Amino acid sequence: MPEAGNEGADSTVAVDAVDFAGHLIRCPSVTPAEGGAIDVLESTLGALGFTCHRLRFEEAGTDPIDNLYARIGTAAPHFCFAGHTDVVPVGDAAAWTVGPFDGAVRDGLLWGRGAADMKGGIAAFVAAAARIIGEHGGNPPGSISLLITGDEEGPAVNGTTKVLDWMEAAGEIPDACVVGEPTNPNALGDMMKIGRRGSLTGTLTVLGTQGHVAYPHLADNPIHHLLRMLEPFAHGQLDEGTAHFQPSTLAVTTIDVGNPASNVVPAKATAVFNIRFNDAHNSQSLERMLRDSFDQKGARYELVTSCSGESFLTEPGRLSTLIADAAESVVGRRPELSTTGGTSDARFICRMCPVVEFGLVGQTMHKVDERVAIADIRSLTDIYAALLRRFLA
Ligand SMILES: [Zn+2]
Repeated sequence: MPEAGNEGADSTVAVDAVDFAGHLIRCPSVTPAEGGAIDVLESTLGALGFTCHRLRFEEAGTDPIDNLYARIGTAAPHFCFAGHTDVVPVGDAAAWTVGPFDGAVRDGLLWGRGAADMKGGIAAFVAAAARIIGEHGGNPPGSISLLITGDEEGPAVNGTTKVLDWMEAAGEIPDACVVGEPTNPNALGDMMKIGRRGSLTGTLTVLGTQGHVAYPHLADNPIHHLLRMLEPFAHGQLDEGTAHFQPSTLAVTTIDVGNPASNVVPAKATAVFNIRFNDAHNSQSLERMLRDSFDQKGARYELVTSCSGESFLTEPGRLSTLIADAAESVVGRRPELSTTGGTSDARFICRMCPVVEFGLVGQTMHKVDERVAIADIRSLTDIYAALLRRFLA
């Protein structure tokens, strides 16, 4: 894989976070397209003195994906910024106020697909790192790295998990990591995510015996079995929550029988459900719990589960405190520690080091007219720089 060394590094390279975010938005990197976004990052980080590793991964049945791992410095402590350059599709392009890939600034806002999720955050990573590098004449204390994937919004098969495998094999183990997802609901400094719930989807198929509705003793109705098997979970909640998590939930998303006849007992019935689970469970314990419960009802059934991510928690500690201190020093507020919301690549990174998510305001992510305040991009840059100073000190 190509590698760029420190030759030509220039500690006077300044990066304007808003300009750089606009540059990234103009790279149309809808998953799985690289769109030039990784190229832009690689050349800018190389000029700043980072050693860049372009990591292209592929496997049968998936699109090849370009990723980037870049590090400056070899000493401890090692701080890592993680994020993704890929973006979701624009949706109704005609509904956008400005072109989704124009990267235009208007009314104090930077507009475009990825402005919030999460090219604005990546631009703040780079601008903050450039500032710290400049403050130390090109040789910052410790090490700063960026783990950038082009496969977060897609299947996430050729992205962060494979970069982490590569990092482990290369002995590249950070001491802490911040993922720059847009974690703030309303204003910068509202919220950081110290963990996320896991997600497990189950497909339950109950097998009965088809027959005439007037002779039910000659049939075996799988729908009746299915209802009894789901009944213990019908209240939708699996526990009372834990110290840092909401209760785990189970939502039935569909029940399918496909029976067009009102005088026939069908042969089988299927339900699909999704469980969002806290740190009291994992995918294996949940499957055991489900099978134990279903077995008690005595019906013949098949259960297929798939887990898109286990729950994880970075216990409140040094990393979350440093982020809160840095945020408070810039915006005057300490972010709430939360585990709410969907999943992110932090669910993979947690296997390697403490990981917390903190980025821009997420109100417009994945929407038409995605946009962020340019003042927020500048403040987030200040927060990341303050965090680096504290962490590397
Ligand atoms: Zn994202």
